[in-house]
Amino acid sequence: MCGIVGYVGDRNVTDVLVQGLKNLEYRGYDSAGIAVRNDKNIDVVKSVGKVIDLEKKLESFDVNYYMGIAHTRWATHGEVNEVNCHPHSMNNVVLVHNGIIENYRELKKELELIGYSFLTNTDSEIVAALIDSYKGSKYDALVYAQMKMKGSYALVIMFDDEADTLYAIRKDSPLIVGIGENENFVASDISVILPYTKKYVDIEEGEVVKITKSDVFVYSENGLVDKKIKTALCSIEDAQKGGYEHFMLKEMNEEKDLCVKLYNKFIEDGNYSDDIPDISNYNNVDIVACGSAFYAATVGKYLIDTYVCDRSVRVNVDVASEYRYKKHFYGDRSLVIVVSQSGETADTLACLRMANSLNVDTLAIVNVPSSTIAKEAKLVMPMLAGPEIAVATTKGYFSQVLELSLIAQKLGYIKGTISDIEKKSLIKTFENLKSYLIPLFEIDYSTIAGKLWFKEHIYFIGRGIDYIVGLEASLKLKEISYIHSDVYQAGELKHGPIALIDNDTPVISIITNDEIKEKSLSNAIEAQSRGASLYLLASENVDIDNLKIDEIIRVPRISEFYQPLLNIIPFQFIAYEVAKLKG
Ligand code: GLU
Repeated sequence: MCGIVGYVGDRNVTDVLVQGLKNLEYRGYDSAGIAVRNDKNIDVVKSVGKVIDLEKKLESFDVNYYMGIAHTRWATHGEVNEVNCHPHSMNNVVLVHNGIIENYRELKKELELIGYSFLTNTDSEIVAALIDSYKGSKYDALVYAQMKMKGSYALVIMFDDEADTLYAIRKDSPLIVGIGENENFVASDISVILPYTKKYVDIEEGEVVKITKSDVFVYSENGLVDKKIKTALCSIEDAQKGGYEHFMLKEMNEEKDLCVKLYNKFIEDGNYSDDIPDISNYNNVDIVACGSAFYAATVGKYLIDTYVCDRSVRVNVDVASEYRYKKHFYGDRSLVIVVSQSGETADTLACLRMANSLNVDTLAIVNVPSSTIAKEAKLVMPMLAGPEIAVATTKGYFSQVLELSLIAQKLGYIKGTISDIEKKSLIKTFENLKSYLIPLFEIDYSTIAGKLWFKEHIYFIGRGIDYIVGLEASLKLKEISYIHSDVYQAGELKHGPIALIDNDTPVISIITNDEIKEKSLSNAIEAQSRGASLYLLASENVDIDNLKIDEIIRVPRISEFYQPLLNIIPFQFIAYEVAKLKG
């Protein structure tokens, strides 16, 4: 994630680079850095915190630079500090990198064997050494690096011995080349180049780009590529939304790739990797969070209770604003897990501090690596969701649920309540998760939204994990559409809430849990008999013959460890479409 800017030309280089980083700030970051070149040398300046802090440091620098690269970092490997901040150098190579090199440990070992040593804890410094280690042309060095690296990267590289040229390559991380008059750019997105030029070319995986002040050359294995020059017609703000109408829509769409990213991070050679925390030594686990993160925590508790039920661990969930004022009975095998997208949620932070002060072990599932919660927790599991700009969380919740599911899976496997065969099948499902998700992104949700947007009350019902997903579905809807919405355990309906249902009250029933689907269906029919208009989110195997249903959305039936991730997608879209209709 985050941002890259490269520039060669006659403008004030630091100004172009710093302004470019500012236009990329919306992507989120924890630190920033720059490498700029004049006739004498390459100067590198780094700063933890905001781009404006970097800008202040640059005030004392001379202005005769003609080329440079700049970076905002969202740390994935190595803590947030100046040493780990980009650009990274190795002998002849200076580079910036966005993305994750999955096999960096393996590459690091190989490079150490031939004499390289490293200053930072990043995966990116390894890439600088990898390119430097190749004895041959620069083009061949970059092809070699592409061949060796697994993972995602947008890389812009300066070579000490080639004074006028920037090189770039990319895979699964964005990077474009902006084409100006006697100046050229390379950037994570067009918001960087728009103040100067509208012309740009896309870079494809496997290509190597060479940029000077006057030329842009793109090579593939077949030689020079005749690239199509595109014209950007949007505003900076539109560019930042990546062509989507709203940040929320963009972020929902990012969920498809997020599950692949999390798979690559947390599954290694068909096994749960060491990056998934092992909580098997604890017998008392409290998961604490607020809002959607609390509902993600509730999914985590359900999965551990249901699938690791060997009575050796008791899991409790609580909302942070309650937990912080309660009394707790911690033993020496207690763990407090806090879940927070921003890592700054005040109540959650207070709970973390309380647990830390009592010497209880703490684990944070957190998205922003530079946040206070990430800094203060004893152990961190990064969410890797990238910046979440929309107020209503979508991909953040998705990542939290998936990570808690992985913790539960690993725990079950260690404790033997999940067998080898089950583990294999769970990991296979994880590998295929994107293909289960894609059809849900292709459904047109506007018809359902058209029937719901003018209603005053909307109720969700479900049992088990379906009820827990309903909590988040209902929150999403009220949060952005301002429609009153509530969720009930389907069996509770008859104990009071059914009185709220009259003619045409929408009731959305979630039924994906096999064992209790008949009961859930009969609760839905109960609501219908009071006049409710019935909407169903049901897995393929739920038989609705002879039922009169207003709208039904079918989801594939997969393991409960992943089912909530499928079930929530339609509700995120419905909430979004309803909010749009309400203006
Ligand atoms: N993996 C690299 C790091 O942790 C790059 C992160 C980024 O995309 O900013 O430094």
